[in-house]
Amino acid sequence: MARSTLPDIEIPGQTLYELLFGELDDADLDRVALIDGPSGDETTYRALIAQIDSLAGALAARGLAVGDRVGILCPNIPAFATVFHGVLRAGGTATTVNTLYTRDEIAAQLSGAGASWLFTISPLLPQAEAAAADAGIPADRLVVIDGAPGHPSLRDLLFDRAAPPEVDFDPATHLAVLPYSSGTTGHPKGVMLTHRNLVANVLQCEQIIPLERDDRVLAVLPFFHIYGMSVLLDFALLKRAALVTMPRFDLADFLGTVATQRCTWLFIAPPIAVALAKHPLVAESDLSSVKVVFSGAAPLDRALATAVAERLGCTVCQGYGMTETSPVTHVIPVGRDDVDRSSIGFALPNTECRVVDPESGRDVKVPRRGRGPSAPGELLIRGPQVMSGYLHDDEATARTIEPDGWLHTGDIATVDSAGVYTIVDRLKELIKYKGYQVAPAVLEAVLLAHPLIADAAVIGVPDDDGQEVPKAFVVRRAQDAGTTGTGLDEESVMAWVAERVAPHEKVRLVEFVDLIPKSSSGKILRKDLRARRGRHAALV
Ligand code: AMP
Repeated sequence: MARSTLPDIEIPGQTLYELLFGELDDADLDRVALIDGPSGDETTYRALIAQIDSLAGALAARGLAVGDRVGILCPNIPAFATVFHGVLRAGGTATTVNTLYTRDEIAAQLSGAGASWLFTISPLLPQAEAAAADAGIPADRLVVIDGAPGHPSLRDLLFDRAAPPEVDFDPATHLAVLPYSSGTTGHPKGVMLTHRNLVANVLQCEQIIPLERDDRVLAVLPFFHIYGMSVLLDFALLKRAALVTMPRFDLADFLGTVATQRCTWLFIAPPIAVALAKHPLVAESDLSSVKVVFSGAAPLDRALATAVAERLGCTVCQGYGMTETSPVTHVIPVGRDDVDRSSIGFALPNTECRVVDPESGRDVKVPRRGRGPSAPGELLIRGPQVMSGYLHDDEATARTIEPDGWLHTGDIATVDSAGVYTIVDRLKELIKYKGYQVAPAVLEAVLLAHPLIADAAVIGVPDDDGQEVPKAFVVRRAQDAGTTGTGLDEESVMAWVAERVAPHEKVRLVEFVDLIPKSSSGKILRKDLRARRGRHAALV
Protein backbone atom coordinates (compact mmCIF):
# COMPACT_ATOMS: atom_id res chain seq x y z
CA MET A 1 0.00 0.00 0.00
CA ALA A 2 1.29 3.46 -0.86
CA ARG A 3 0.02 6.90 0.11
CA SER A 4 0.38 9.76 -2.31
CA THR A 5 3.87 11.27 -2.29
CA LEU A 6 2.15 14.67 -1.92
CA PRO A 7 1.15 16.04 1.49
CA ASP A 8 -2.48 15.53 2.55
CA ILE A 9 -4.87 18.45 2.34
CA GLU A 10 -7.82 19.42 4.52
CA ILE A 11 -11.20 18.71 2.87
CA PRO A 12 -13.69 21.31 4.15
CA GLY A 13 -17.26 20.28 5.04
CA GLN A 14 -18.73 22.52 2.33
CA THR A 15 -21.21 22.02 -0.47
CA LEU A 16 -19.86 22.30 -4.01
CA TYR A 17 -21.65 25.67 -4.40
CA GLU A 18 -20.06 27.03 -1.22
CA LEU A 19 -16.60 25.95 -2.37
CA LEU A 20 -16.90 27.28 -5.91
CA PHE A 21 -18.99 30.37 -5.47
CA GLY A 22 -18.94 31.17 -1.75
CA GLU A 23 -16.11 33.69 -1.81
CA LEU A 24 -15.71 35.89 -4.86
CA ASP A 25 -14.56 39.50 -4.69
CA ASP A 26 -15.67 42.13 -7.19
CA ALA A 27 -12.69 41.49 -9.43
CA ASP A 28 -13.57 37.78 -9.63
CA LEU A 29 -17.25 38.48 -10.19
CA ASP A 30 -16.45 40.59 -13.24
CA ARG A 31 -14.28 37.92 -14.83
CA VAL A 32 -15.63 35.87 -17.71
CA ALA A 33 -16.68 32.39 -16.56
CA LEU A 34 -18.11 30.99 -19.80
CA ILE A 35 -17.74 31.71 -23.48
CA ASP A 36 -20.09 30.07 -25.94
CA GLY A 37 -17.64 28.79 -28.58
CA PRO A 38 -19.91 29.07 -31.65
CA SER A 39 -21.24 32.61 -30.92
CA GLY A 40 -18.51 34.04 -28.68
CA ASP A 41 -21.19 35.18 -26.14
CA GLU A 42 -19.71 35.69 -22.69
CA THR A 43 -21.14 35.10 -19.20
CA THR A 44 -19.39 36.64 -16.19
CA TYR A 45 -19.10 34.93 -12.83
CA ARG A 46 -21.55 37.55 -11.48
CA ALA A 47 -24.17 36.65 -14.09
CA LEU A 48 -23.57 32.91 -13.69
CA ILE A 49 -24.02 32.99 -9.92
CA ALA A 50 -27.15 35.15 -10.22
CA GLN A 51 -28.62 32.60 -12.66
CA ILE A 52 -27.67 29.65 -10.44
CA ASP A 53 -29.32 31.29 -7.40
CA SER A 54 -32.38 32.22 -9.37
CA LEU A 55 -32.79 28.76 -10.89
CA ALA A 56 -32.38 27.11 -7.47
CA GLY A 57 -35.11 29.41 -6.15
CA ALA A 58 -37.45 28.67 -9.04
CA LEU A 59 -36.96 24.91 -8.74
CA ALA A 60 -37.65 24.97 -5.01
CA ALA A 61 -40.73 27.16 -5.54
CA ARG A 62 -41.99 24.70 -8.15
CA GLY A 63 -41.67 21.78 -5.78
CA LEU A 64 -38.12 20.44 -6.06
CA ALA A 65 -37.20 19.06 -2.64
CA VAL A 66 -33.79 18.26 -1.21
CA GLY A 67 -32.71 14.88 -2.59
CA ASP A 68 -34.92 15.00 -5.70
CA ARG A 69 -33.20 13.68 -8.82
CA VAL A 70 -32.92 15.83 -11.93
CA GLY A 71 -31.88 14.53 -15.35
CA ILE A 72 -29.71 16.75 -17.54
CA LEU A 73 -29.60 15.78 -21.23
CA CYS A 74 -27.69 18.62 -22.81
CA PRO A 75 -24.52 19.22 -24.85
CA ASN A 76 -21.81 21.66 -23.72
CA ILE A 77 -23.43 25.09 -23.75
CA PRO A 78 -23.00 27.79 -21.09
CA ALA A 79 -26.53 27.12 -19.74
CA PHE A 80 -25.36 23.64 -18.69
CA ALA A 81 -23.35 25.30 -15.92
CA THR A 82 -26.41 27.23 -14.70
CA VAL A 83 -28.60 24.13 -14.70
CA PHE A 84 -26.02 21.83 -13.11
CA HIS A 85 -25.04 24.18 -10.30
CA GLY A 86 -28.63 25.46 -9.89
CA VAL A 87 -29.88 21.91 -9.30
CA LEU A 88 -27.13 21.21 -6.75
CA ARG A 89 -27.71 24.60 -5.07
CA ALA A 90 -31.36 23.63 -4.53
CA GLY A 91 -30.29 20.36 -2.89
CA GLY A 92 -31.19 18.29 -5.96
CA THR A 93 -29.07 15.45 -7.34
CA ALA A 94 -28.07 15.76 -11.00
CA THR A 95 -28.05 12.65 -13.16
CA THR A 96 -26.27 13.69 -16.34
CA VAL A 97 -27.21 11.72 -19.45
CA ASN A 98 -25.09 10.99 -22.53
CA THR A 99 -26.58 13.11 -25.34
CA LEU A 100 -25.88 10.30 -27.83
CA TYR A 101 -28.10 7.86 -25.94
CA THR A 102 -31.17 6.33 -27.57
CA ARG A 103 -34.61 7.02 -26.17
CA ASP A 104 -34.59 3.67 -24.31
CA GLU A 105 -31.18 4.32 -22.79
CA ILE A 106 -32.29 7.77 -21.60
CA ALA A 107 -35.47 6.31 -20.14
CA ALA A 108 -33.54 3.53 -18.38
CA GLN A 109 -31.24 6.07 -16.71
CA LEU A 110 -34.06 8.46 -15.73
CA SER A 111 -36.16 5.63 -14.29
CA GLY A 112 -33.21 3.96 -12.60
CA ALA A 113 -32.15 7.22 -10.98
CA GLY A 114 -35.76 8.05 -10.02
CA ALA A 115 -35.56 11.42 -11.79
CA SER A 116 -38.59 13.68 -11.35
CA TRP A 117 -37.30 16.52 -13.57
CA LEU A 118 -35.45 16.65 -16.87
CA PHE A 119 -33.59 19.53 -18.54
CA THR A 120 -32.86 19.32 -22.25
CA ILE A 121 -32.58 21.41 -25.42
CA SER A 122 -35.08 21.56 -28.30
CA PRO A 123 -33.05 19.46 -30.82
CA LEU A 124 -33.08 16.59 -28.31
CA LEU A 125 -36.77 17.02 -27.44
CA PRO A 126 -38.15 14.00 -29.39
CA GLN A 127 -36.06 11.47 -27.47
CA ALA A 128 -36.27 13.49 -24.23
CA GLU A 129 -40.07 13.70 -24.40
CA ALA A 130 -40.46 9.97 -25.07
CA ALA A 131 -37.99 9.03 -22.33
CA ALA A 132 -39.57 11.46 -19.86
CA ALA A 133 -42.99 9.91 -20.55
CA ASP A 134 -41.56 6.41 -19.94
CA ALA A 135 -39.99 7.63 -16.68
CA GLY A 136 -43.19 9.37 -15.53
CA ILE A 137 -41.82 12.93 -15.72
CA PRO A 138 -44.68 15.36 -16.48
CA ALA A 139 -44.44 18.00 -19.26
CA ASP A 140 -44.18 20.89 -16.75
CA ARG A 141 -41.06 19.27 -15.30
CA LEU A 142 -39.41 18.68 -18.65
CA VAL A 143 -37.59 21.97 -19.03
CA VAL A 144 -36.49 22.83 -22.56
CA ILE A 145 -33.61 25.21 -21.98
CA ASP A 146 -34.05 27.12 -25.23
CA GLY A 147 -37.85 26.83 -25.18
CA ALA A 148 -40.49 24.60 -26.83
CA PRO A 149 -44.29 24.74 -26.79
CA GLY A 150 -45.87 23.01 -23.80
CA HIS A 151 -42.73 23.06 -21.66
CA PRO A 152 -41.11 25.60 -19.34
CA SER A 153 -37.86 27.13 -20.64
CA LEU A 154 -34.81 28.13 -18.63
CA ARG A 155 -35.78 31.74 -19.23
CA ASP A 156 -39.24 31.07 -17.71
CA LEU A 157 -37.63 29.68 -14.59
CA LEU A 158 -35.12 32.51 -14.28
CA PHE A 159 -37.97 34.98 -14.83
CA ASP A 160 -39.51 33.86 -11.51
CA ARG A 161 -36.65 35.79 -9.85
CA ALA A 162 -37.10 33.52 -6.83
CA ALA A 163 -34.64 33.77 -3.95
CA PRO A 164 -32.42 30.69 -3.51
CA PRO A 165 -33.89 28.31 -0.94
CA GLU A 166 -32.48 27.67 2.52
CA VAL A 167 -31.42 24.05 2.18
CA ASP A 168 -30.04 21.87 4.89
CA PHE A 169 -28.08 18.73 4.09
CA ASP A 170 -24.84 17.07 5.07
CA PRO A 171 -22.25 17.52 2.28
CA ALA A 172 -20.49 14.37 3.47
CA THR A 173 -23.44 12.13 2.65
CA HIS A 174 -25.79 14.09 0.39
CA LEU A 175 -25.68 12.95 -3.23
CA ALA A 176 -24.60 15.72 -5.58
CA VAL A 177 -24.54 13.69 -8.78
CA LEU A 178 -25.52 10.31 -10.16
CA PRO A 179 -23.55 9.77 -13.37
CA TYR A 180 -23.86 6.31 -14.96
CA SER A 181 -21.03 3.82 -15.38
CA SER A 182 -20.97 0.11 -16.08
CA GLY A 183 -18.10 -0.35 -13.62
CA THR A 184 -16.26 -3.64 -13.80
CA THR A 185 -19.15 -5.63 -15.28
CA GLY A 186 -22.75 -5.56 -16.52
CA HIS A 187 -25.05 -2.69 -17.44
CA PRO A 188 -24.64 1.01 -16.55
CA LYS A 189 -25.29 1.78 -12.89
CA GLY A 190 -25.86 5.02 -10.97
CA VAL A 191 -22.59 6.11 -9.35
CA MET A 192 -23.37 7.82 -6.04
CA LEU A 193 -21.08 10.82 -5.61
CA THR A 194 -21.55 13.15 -2.66
CA HIS A 195 -20.75 16.85 -2.38
CA ARG A 196 -17.72 15.81 -0.33
CA ASN A 197 -16.51 13.55 -3.17
CA LEU A 198 -16.68 16.41 -5.66
CA VAL A 199 -15.28 19.04 -3.28
CA ALA A 200 -12.39 16.70 -2.43
CA ASN A 201 -11.53 15.96 -6.06
CA VAL A 202 -11.55 19.61 -7.08
CA LEU A 203 -9.18 20.46 -4.22
CA GLN A 204 -6.99 17.43 -4.90
CA CYS A 205 -6.68 18.50 -8.55
CA GLU A 206 -5.76 22.00 -7.41
CA GLN A 207 -2.61 20.63 -5.79
CA ILE A 208 -1.28 19.17 -9.01
CA ILE A 209 -2.94 20.86 -12.04
CA PRO A 210 -1.63 24.43 -12.28
CA LEU A 211 -4.58 26.11 -13.96
CA GLU A 212 -4.58 29.89 -13.46
CA ARG A 213 -7.07 32.76 -13.55
CA ASP A 214 -6.01 33.98 -16.95
CA ASP A 215 -6.30 30.57 -18.54
CA ARG A 216 -8.87 29.96 -21.22
CA VAL A 217 -9.93 26.36 -21.13
CA LEU A 218 -11.51 24.59 -24.07
CA ALA A 219 -14.58 22.70 -22.87
CA VAL A 220 -15.18 20.15 -25.60
CA LEU A 221 -15.20 17.07 -23.36
CA PRO A 222 -18.83 16.50 -22.49
CA PHE A 223 -20.02 17.95 -19.19
CA PHE A 224 -22.28 14.90 -18.80
CA HIS A 225 -19.22 12.67 -18.33
CA ILE A 226 -17.43 12.89 -15.00
CA TYR A 227 -14.17 14.15 -16.60
CA GLY A 228 -15.85 17.22 -18.13
CA MET A 229 -18.08 17.66 -15.11
CA SER A 230 -15.41 17.70 -12.40
CA VAL A 231 -12.39 19.06 -14.23
CA LEU A 232 -14.15 21.69 -16.38
CA LEU A 233 -17.46 22.57 -14.74
CA ASP A 234 -16.07 22.44 -11.19
CA PHE A 235 -12.26 22.74 -11.08
CA ALA A 236 -11.78 25.32 -13.87
CA LEU A 237 -14.54 27.48 -12.37
CA LEU A 238 -12.92 27.24 -8.92
CA LYS A 239 -9.74 28.58 -10.51
CA ARG A 240 -11.76 31.47 -12.07
CA ALA A 241 -10.56 30.46 -15.52
CA ALA A 242 -12.79 31.01 -18.58
CA LEU A 243 -14.49 27.94 -20.07
CA VAL A 244 -14.96 28.01 -23.84
CA THR A 245 -17.82 25.62 -24.58
CA MET A 246 -18.17 23.51 -27.72
CA PRO A 247 -21.38 21.48 -28.12
CA ARG A 248 -19.75 18.77 -30.23
CA PHE A 249 -16.34 17.80 -31.59
CA ASP A 250 -15.61 18.81 -35.15
CA LEU A 251 -11.91 19.23 -35.95
CA ALA A 252 -12.23 22.41 -38.02
CA ASP A 253 -14.49 24.07 -35.41
CA PHE A 254 -12.20 22.87 -32.64
CA LEU A 255 -9.11 24.36 -34.25
CA GLY A 256 -10.97 27.56 -35.18
CA THR A 257 -12.25 28.00 -31.61
CA VAL A 258 -8.81 27.44 -30.08
CA ALA A 259 -7.36 30.05 -32.45
CA THR A 260 -10.11 32.68 -32.04
CA GLN A 261 -10.50 32.31 -28.31
CA ARG A 262 -6.74 31.94 -27.71
CA CYS A 263 -7.31 28.84 -25.55
CA THR A 264 -4.39 27.97 -23.26
CA TRP A 265 -5.43 24.56 -21.91
CA LEU A 266 -7.00 21.75 -23.90
CA PHE A 267 -8.49 18.91 -21.87
CA ILE A 268 -8.99 16.07 -24.34
CA ALA A 269 -9.31 12.31 -24.80
CA PRO A 270 -6.79 10.33 -26.93
CA PRO A 271 -8.75 10.37 -30.24
CA ILE A 272 -8.36 14.19 -30.31
CA ALA A 273 -4.63 13.69 -29.69
CA VAL A 274 -4.55 11.48 -32.81
CA ALA A 275 -6.10 14.30 -34.86
CA LEU A 276 -3.72 16.89 -33.34
CA ALA A 277 -0.72 14.72 -34.19
CA LYS A 278 -1.72 13.71 -37.71
CA HIS A 279 -4.35 15.86 -39.37
CA PRO A 280 -3.17 18.31 -42.08
CA LEU A 281 -5.63 21.00 -40.89
CA VAL A 282 -3.57 21.36 -37.71
CA ALA A 283 -0.59 22.69 -39.70
CA GLU A 284 -2.76 25.52 -41.05
CA SER A 285 -4.12 26.53 -37.62
CA ASP A 286 -2.81 29.03 -35.11
CA LEU A 287 -2.46 26.98 -31.94
CA SER A 288 0.28 29.21 -30.49
CA SER A 289 -1.85 30.07 -27.42
CA VAL A 290 -1.89 26.44 -26.23
CA LYS A 291 0.34 25.80 -23.18
CA VAL A 292 -0.92 22.41 -22.06
CA VAL A 293 -2.75 19.50 -23.65
CA PHE A 294 -4.11 17.25 -20.92
CA SER A 295 -5.36 13.81 -21.96
CA GLY A 296 -7.53 11.44 -19.94
CA ALA A 297 -10.42 8.95 -20.17
CA ALA A 298 -8.44 6.30 -22.11
CA PRO A 299 -4.76 5.32 -22.56
CA LEU A 300 -2.46 7.83 -24.27
CA ASP A 301 0.40 6.33 -26.23
CA ARG A 302 3.93 7.69 -25.61
CA ALA A 303 4.71 8.29 -29.31
CA LEU A 304 1.37 10.06 -29.74
CA ALA A 305 2.04 12.31 -26.72
CA THR A 306 5.48 13.20 -28.11
CA ALA A 307 4.09 13.90 -31.57
CA VAL A 308 1.46 16.30 -30.17
CA ALA A 309 4.00 18.05 -27.93
CA GLU A 310 6.41 18.55 -30.83
CA ARG A 311 3.81 19.65 -33.35
CA LEU A 312 2.11 22.14 -31.02
CA GLY A 313 5.21 23.14 -29.05
CA CYS A 314 3.40 22.61 -25.76
CA THR A 315 3.36 20.33 -22.73
CA VAL A 316 1.34 17.12 -23.00
CA CYS A 317 0.23 15.48 -19.75
CA GLN A 318 -1.90 12.54 -18.87
CA GLY A 319 -4.36 11.96 -16.05
CA TYR A 320 -6.27 8.89 -14.98
CA GLY A 321 -9.47 8.27 -13.15
CA MET A 322 -12.95 6.85 -13.37
CA THR A 323 -16.52 7.89 -12.70
CA GLU A 324 -16.37 5.95 -9.43
CA THR A 325 -13.49 8.19 -8.20
CA SER A 326 -15.06 11.58 -9.05
CA PRO A 327 -12.90 11.01 -11.32
CA VAL A 328 -9.22 11.97 -10.89
CA THR A 329 -6.76 9.79 -8.95
CA HIS A 330 -3.47 10.19 -10.89
CA VAL A 331 -1.81 12.96 -12.88
CA ILE A 332 1.55 13.66 -14.54
CA PRO A 333 2.45 17.08 -13.11
CA VAL A 334 3.10 19.86 -15.63
CA GLY A 335 6.84 20.56 -15.60
CA ARG A 336 7.83 17.00 -14.73
CA ASP A 337 9.29 16.29 -18.17
CA ASP A 338 11.21 13.39 -16.67
CA VAL A 339 8.00 11.40 -16.17
CA ASP A 340 7.12 8.97 -18.98
CA ARG A 341 4.14 10.36 -20.94
CA SER A 342 2.58 6.93 -21.29
CA SER A 343 2.36 6.69 -17.50
CA ILE A 344 -0.48 8.21 -15.48
CA GLY A 345 1.97 9.93 -13.12
CA PHE A 346 1.54 10.25 -9.38
CA ALA A 347 -1.40 9.70 -7.04
CA LEU A 348 -3.24 12.86 -5.99
CA PRO A 349 -2.99 14.00 -2.35
CA ASN A 350 -5.11 12.03 0.16
CA THR A 351 -5.10 9.10 -2.29
CA GLU A 352 -3.85 5.64 -1.34
CA CYS A 353 -3.03 3.01 -3.95
CA ARG A 354 -2.39 -0.71 -4.01
CA VAL A 355 -1.31 -2.88 -6.92
CA VAL A 356 -2.63 -6.36 -6.26
CA ASP A 357 -1.90 -9.59 -8.13
CA PRO A 358 -5.39 -10.73 -9.21
CA GLU A 359 -4.43 -14.41 -8.92
CA SER A 360 -2.89 -14.43 -5.44
CA GLY A 361 -4.64 -11.36 -3.99
CA ARG A 362 -1.26 -10.18 -2.70
CA ASP A 363 0.22 -6.72 -3.16
CA VAL A 364 3.03 -6.71 -5.70
CA LYS A 365 6.48 -5.69 -4.49
CA VAL A 366 7.45 -2.09 -5.26
CA PRO A 367 10.97 -2.35 -6.71
CA ARG A 368 13.97 -0.46 -5.41
CA ARG A 369 15.31 2.62 -7.21
CA GLY A 370 16.64 1.99 -10.69
CA ARG A 371 14.95 -1.41 -10.93
CA GLY A 372 12.15 -0.43 -13.33
CA PRO A 373 8.44 -0.97 -12.71
CA SER A 374 6.77 -3.52 -10.45
CA ALA A 375 4.97 -6.61 -11.68
CA PRO A 376 1.49 -5.75 -13.01
CA GLY A 377 -1.56 -6.05 -10.78
CA GLU A 378 -5.02 -4.59 -10.28
CA LEU A 379 -4.97 -0.97 -9.13
CA LEU A 380 -6.97 -0.37 -5.95
CA ILE A 381 -7.75 3.14 -4.73
CA ARG A 382 -8.80 4.57 -1.37
CA GLY A 383 -9.50 8.25 -0.80
CA PRO A 384 -12.13 10.94 -0.26
CA GLN A 385 -13.02 10.94 -3.97
CA VAL A 386 -14.23 7.31 -3.93
CA MET A 387 -18.00 6.95 -4.51
CA SER A 388 -20.31 5.80 -1.76
CA GLY A 389 -21.54 2.97 -4.01
CA TYR A 390 -23.83 2.07 -6.91
CA LEU A 391 -27.47 3.15 -6.60
CA HIS A 392 -29.82 0.27 -5.66
CA ASP A 393 -27.07 -2.28 -6.32
CA ASP A 394 -25.52 -3.54 -3.12
CA GLU A 395 -24.07 -6.56 -4.88
CA ALA A 396 -22.12 -4.52 -7.43
CA THR A 397 -21.07 -2.12 -4.66
CA ALA A 398 -19.76 -4.98 -2.52
CA ARG A 399 -17.91 -6.43 -5.51
CA THR A 400 -16.26 -3.08 -6.20
CA ILE A 401 -15.52 -1.58 -2.77
CA GLU A 402 -13.91 -3.62 0.02
CA PRO A 403 -15.35 -3.14 3.53
CA ASP A 404 -12.23 -1.14 4.45
CA GLY A 405 -12.77 1.32 1.59
CA TRP A 406 -10.51 0.00 -1.19
CA LEU A 407 -12.07 0.45 -4.62
CA HIS A 408 -11.27 -2.07 -7.36
CA THR A 409 -10.56 -0.08 -10.52
CA GLY A 410 -10.58 -3.13 -12.80
CA ASP A 411 -7.44 -1.69 -14.43
CA ILE A 412 -4.05 -3.37 -14.43
CA ALA A 413 -1.14 -1.11 -13.45
CA THR A 414 2.52 -1.12 -12.53
CA VAL A 415 4.26 1.23 -10.12
CA ASP A 416 7.91 2.24 -9.86
CA SER A 417 10.05 3.27 -6.91
CA ALA A 418 9.27 6.98 -7.47
CA GLY A 419 5.51 6.36 -7.21
CA VAL A 420 4.81 6.67 -10.94
CA TYR A 421 1.92 4.45 -12.04
CA THR A 422 1.32 3.08 -15.55
CA ILE A 423 -1.88 1.42 -16.78
CA VAL A 424 -0.86 -1.62 -18.80
CA ASP A 425 -4.10 -3.54 -19.30
CA ARG A 426 -7.74 -3.79 -18.27
CA LEU A 427 -9.18 -6.56 -16.16
CA LYS A 428 -12.78 -5.41 -16.44
CA GLU A 429 -15.14 -5.82 -19.39
CA LEU A 430 -15.47 -2.11 -20.15
CA ILE A 431 -14.62 -0.86 -23.65
CA LYS A 432 -13.62 2.77 -24.17
CA TYR A 433 -14.57 4.03 -27.65
CA LYS A 434 -13.29 7.58 -28.17
CA GLY A 435 -13.25 7.95 -24.38
CA TYR A 436 -16.94 6.97 -24.12
CA GLN A 437 -17.96 3.94 -22.10
CA VAL A 438 -19.29 0.97 -24.03
CA ALA A 439 -20.63 -1.86 -21.88
CA PRO A 440 -20.20 -5.27 -23.57
CA ALA A 441 -23.18 -6.60 -21.60
CA VAL A 442 -25.46 -4.06 -23.32
CA LEU A 443 -24.27 -5.06 -26.80
CA GLU A 444 -24.40 -8.77 -25.99
CA ALA A 445 -28.05 -8.39 -24.92
CA VAL A 446 -28.84 -6.65 -28.24
CA LEU A 447 -27.03 -9.35 -30.22
CA LEU A 448 -28.75 -12.20 -28.38
CA ALA A 449 -32.13 -10.70 -29.27
CA HIS A 450 -31.38 -11.39 -32.97
CA PRO A 451 -33.36 -14.45 -34.14
CA LEU A 452 -30.38 -15.88 -36.06
CA ILE A 453 -27.81 -15.45 -33.27
CA ALA A 454 -27.26 -18.31 -30.84
CA ASP A 455 -24.57 -16.72 -28.70
CA ALA A 456 -22.38 -13.62 -28.69
CA ALA A 457 -19.59 -11.84 -26.84
CA VAL A 458 -18.13 -8.38 -27.28
CA ILE A 459 -14.63 -7.16 -26.46
CA GLY A 460 -12.49 -4.11 -27.27
CA VAL A 461 -9.72 -4.47 -29.87
CA PRO A 462 -7.21 -1.88 -31.09
CA ASP A 463 -7.65 -0.17 -34.46
CA ASP A 464 -4.84 1.16 -36.68
CA ASP A 465 -4.38 4.26 -34.48
CA GLY A 466 -4.18 2.16 -31.32
CA GLN A 467 -7.68 3.27 -30.25
CA GLU A 468 -10.17 0.73 -28.91
CA VAL A 469 -13.21 -0.38 -30.96
CA PRO A 470 -15.99 -2.84 -30.04
CA LYS A 471 -15.78 -6.22 -31.76
CA ALA A 472 -18.49 -8.91 -31.64
CA PHE A 473 -17.90 -12.65 -31.71
CA VAL A 474 -21.08 -14.27 -32.96
CA VAL A 475 -22.32 -17.88 -33.04
CA ARG A 476 -24.96 -18.45 -35.74
CA ARG A 477 -28.10 -20.41 -34.94
CA ALA A 478 -27.82 -23.99 -36.18
CA GLN A 479 -30.31 -23.69 -39.06
CA ASP A 480 -28.42 -20.67 -40.40
CA ALA A 481 -24.90 -22.03 -39.97
CA GLY A 482 -23.05 -22.28 -43.22
CA THR A 483 -25.50 -20.17 -45.20
CA THR A 484 -24.29 -17.03 -46.88
CA GLY A 485 -25.93 -14.22 -48.83
CA THR A 486 -29.41 -14.13 -47.33
CA GLY A 487 -28.09 -15.48 -44.02
CA LEU A 488 -26.37 -13.69 -41.21
CA ASP A 489 -23.31 -11.76 -42.35
CA GLU A 490 -21.05 -9.13 -40.80
CA GLU A 491 -22.99 -6.20 -42.27
CA SER A 492 -26.38 -7.42 -41.07
CA VAL A 493 -25.04 -8.01 -37.55
CA MET A 494 -23.54 -4.51 -37.44
CA ALA A 495 -26.74 -2.98 -38.82
CA TRP A 496 -28.89 -4.83 -36.24
CA VAL A 497 -26.82 -3.36 -33.41
CA ALA A 498 -26.52 0.11 -34.96
CA GLU A 499 -30.31 0.43 -35.15
CA ARG A 500 -30.66 -0.27 -31.45
CA VAL A 501 -27.81 1.56 -29.68
CA ALA A 502 -26.19 4.99 -29.51
CA PRO A 503 -23.66 5.80 -32.30
CA HIS A 504 -20.60 5.32 -30.05
CA GLU A 505 -21.82 1.85 -29.04
CA LYS A 506 -21.92 0.44 -32.56
CA VAL A 507 -20.14 -2.87 -33.17
CA ARG A 508 -17.38 -2.09 -35.66
CA LEU A 509 -15.99 -5.59 -36.27
CA VAL A 510 -17.66 -8.98 -36.38
CA GLU A 511 -16.16 -12.46 -36.33
CA PHE A 512 -18.23 -15.64 -36.62
CA VAL A 513 -17.14 -18.43 -34.29
CA ASP A 514 -18.44 -21.89 -33.41
CA LEU A 515 -18.40 -21.34 -29.68
CA ILE A 516 -18.00 -18.50 -27.19
CA PRO A 517 -15.38 -19.62 -24.63
CA LYS A 518 -16.94 -19.73 -21.16
CA SER A 519 -15.92 -20.76 -17.66
CA SER A 520 -17.71 -23.60 -15.87
CA SER A 521 -19.96 -20.99 -14.22
CA GLY A 522 -20.93 -19.64 -17.64
CA LYS A 523 -18.82 -16.46 -17.57
CA ILE A 524 -17.47 -15.37 -20.95
CA LEU A 525 -13.69 -15.90 -21.03
CA ARG A 526 -12.85 -12.54 -22.55
CA LYS A 527 -9.13 -13.02 -22.19
CA ASP A 528 -9.34 -16.03 -24.52
CA LEU A 529 -11.10 -13.88 -27.09
CA ARG A 530 -8.55 -11.12 -26.62
CA ALA A 531 -5.77 -13.64 -27.19
CA ARG A 532 -6.99 -14.00 -30.79
CA ARG A 533 -5.38 -10.60 -31.40
CA GLY A 534 -3.64 -11.57 -34.61
CA ARG A 535 -6.98 -12.16 -36.25
CA HIS A 536 -8.39 -8.78 -35.12
CA ALA A 537 -5.49 -6.99 -36.74
CA ALA A 538 -6.16 -8.80 -40.00
CA LEU A 539 -9.78 -7.70 -39.92
CA VAL A 540 -9.33 -4.04 -38.95
P1 AMP B 1 -14.99 6.37 -16.95
O1 AMP B 1 -15.69 5.93 -15.72
O2 AMP B 1 -15.89 6.51 -18.13
O3 AMP B 1 -14.20 7.61 -16.71
O4 AMP B 1 -13.97 5.22 -17.36
C1 AMP B 1 -12.93 4.89 -16.49
C2 AMP B 1 -11.97 3.95 -17.15
O5 AMP B 1 -11.37 4.58 -18.30
C3 AMP B 1 -10.81 3.56 -16.30
O6 AMP B 1 -11.14 2.56 -15.35
C4 AMP B 1 -9.81 3.08 -17.33
O7 AMP B 1 -10.11 1.78 -17.78
C5 AMP B 1 -10.04 4.08 -18.46
N1 AMP B 1 -9.09 5.19 -18.34
C6 AMP B 1 -9.33 6.44 -17.92
N2 AMP B 1 -8.20 7.21 -17.99
C7 AMP B 1 -7.22 6.40 -18.46
C8 AMP B 1 -5.82 6.59 -18.76
N3 AMP B 1 -5.22 7.76 -18.64
N4 AMP B 1 -5.14 5.51 -19.20
C9 AMP B 1 -5.73 4.31 -19.35
N5 AMP B 1 -7.04 4.08 -19.10
C10 AMP B 1 -7.78 5.11 -18.67
